[in-house]
Amino acid sequence: MRFISTRGQAPALGFSDAVATGLAPDGGLYLPEALPRFTAADLARFSTLSYPELCYEFLSRFATDIPADTLRALIACSYTTFSHADIAPVVKLDERTYVLELFHGPTLAFKDFALQLLGNLYEHQCRVRGQSINVLGATSGDTGSAAIHGLLGKPGTAIFILYPDGRTSPLQERQMACTGAANVHALAISGTFDDAQAALKELFADQEFRTRHRLSAVNSINLARILAQCVYYLWAYLRLPAGVRDEIEFVVPTGNFGNVLAGWLLQKMGVPLHSFRVATNQNDILHRLFTTGDYRVSTVTPSLAPSMDIQVSSNFERFLYYSVGRDPAKVREVMQAFKTTGAYTFENFDRDTFTASRTNDAEIPGIIRDVYQRYNYIADPHTACGFKSLSADRPSIVLATASPAKFPDTIVSAIGVEPTHPSLEALKARPLVKHKLPADAAAIRDYLDRHAV
Ligand SMILES: *Cc1c(COP(=O)(O)O)cnc(C)c1O
Repeated sequence: MRFISTRGQAPALGFSDAVATGLAPDGGLYLPEALPRFTAADLARFSTLSYPELCYEFLSRFATDIPADTLRALIACSYTTFSHADIAPVVKLDERTYVLELFHGPTLAFKDFALQLLGNLYEHQCRVRGQSINVLGATSGDTGSAAIHGLLGKPGTAIFILYPDGRTSPLQERQMACTGAANVHALAISGTFDDAQAALKELFADQEFRTRHRLSAVNSINLARILAQCVYYLWAYLRLPAGVRDEIEFVVPTGNFGNVLAGWLLQKMGVPLHSFRVATNQNDILHRLFTTGDYRVSTVTPSLAPSMDIQVSSNFERFLYYSVGRDPAKVREVMQAFKTTGAYTFENFDRDTFTASRTNDAEIPGIIRDVYQRYNYIADPHTACGFKSLSADRPSIVLATASPAKFPDTIVSAIGVEPTHPSLEALKARPLVKHKLPADAAAIRDYLDRHAV
């Protein structure tokens, strides 16, 4: 299978090259040239598979340039790091309410589903090409730790993660800086996340530096991330009771649109998922889009659900591509308009399968309390946004994107109970190794020159 850019001005690539490239050279994002179709017979056959087997059945339709046995092995070792036998357990709270728990991976948030796999794909590429790879990214929290744990100790790779010193949660910092792995570099930048991001952009713009170190970015737009995320929707669909699964609404706590996009793409591949709820926090660009058609940036307000504190949803461009009838010229026009004015109004795009909700910080503790009292279930602050105003017309399955143990302060203030997790407790005993650097591209460049593999 080949992958094309949403902007139509970059050559089509095979799976491995599209994964290695990340952002297409024309500024677009890669999508499959044609989506495969999953039939009712496929779904019946899939229903008895384990999670890794299902993942293989799904990904093998896309990763056609990786030998079957190799792909199977890469997938198998990506999910042995999860602590729950089901990998993504479906929990029934009552007849109308289910939770899909996506936080049993090594960093206790859903990004592990994609980044464990991506780490193994990178390692595989190093082996095949006989070349090392240096991964560089900036994070305000979950993505950095998930990327680090995807590459932890992998031969031929090093990972450098910039984060704003003192501005991530202490547990998030420990997940990045207490791994003990020699190929992991937690770089604490004096400045904000935007400062770190700006320095990063400067380094990626330097072609010579980029080529010399075979630099690769960690970001939410990598094709492999979206495809890996399709699998847990398919898994959940197959686990739900027969009378429920065709009418249930998937409720997705959303920031970058990556998670919800994966479910929607799966629906386009013939899996009869009924509808999606786009659940934002107070940074509500997507809520405004799906309720009014108006896509407009405003400023980011830090919230109790920090991994959704995003204004421009980079993955939205993939949805846009289909919404404008797969017309790359139209995608370029909309993205250009959006870049210059910060806004775009959609006249008519298919909103049938989406509903939207927004939850502000004042509401989050109350929702956590309500869910706890009603179901004896603890939702983290991101998942709590999903529990706001569930559909009255149909059952819902809320995607639980992080473990409550990652956000003890908010949980304690809401219900007076401190959630814990053995892996986070273990981190507290480990030495923290971070390198403090100024928010300055030259200093970071120098660090990489000394430590790149
Ligand atoms: C990243 C993240 C999200 C948002 O996911 P998107 O793919 O950006 O929509 C939600 N919850 C948690 C815990 C996350 O880490």
